[in-house]
Amino acid sequence: MTTETRRAISKAASALRDPRWSRDAACQYTDPELFFPVGQSKAAQQQASEAKAICMTCPVRTTCLEWATETGEQFGVLGGLTQEERWRLVRVRPRSQGQAMDRCIEARDQIQEWRKARMTQVDMAVALNVDRSVLRAALQRFDRDERKQQELEAAA
Ligand code: SF4
Repeated sequence: MTTETRRAISKAASALRDPRWSRDAACQYTDPELFFPVGQSKAAQQQASEAKAICMTCPVRTTCLEWATETGEQFGVLGGLTQEERWRLVRVRPRSQGQAMDRCIEARDQIQEWRKARMTQVDMAVALNVDRSVLRAALQRFDRDERKQQELEAAA
């Protein structure tokens, strides 16, 4: 493990010691290294999935994700997202509702995965850095598209 990763673990662990978090953090009794997969190997991806699964059960996930994005935390799975997912999704806040909708549409597959994992709309909006109203409209649009697709398939 690199020094940078160790520093990130220690920083994340310090944040988790904040009493507002630590009492409820789902990762408090797990090995912190689980949350810092190194590289993109299959083993690292599996490790990230395991960490994300713990985040999905975490009652302070939104706070954790907000902290990770506000502080620009660069390493590790935090708030249910890997660093790459956070970089991609929150680097720039969309300037208009149209841009925010475009971001939701681009992240459609990711959003559908989150829905399957029962991630809340609040958490999804934080992860995407878009207003909840835009996310809600995007979800309605996805549902409409899916219904249309099912109708077409049924009629075929
Ligand atoms: S969201 Fe994940 S990393 Fe953050 S406190 Fe919860 S379990 Fe830990």
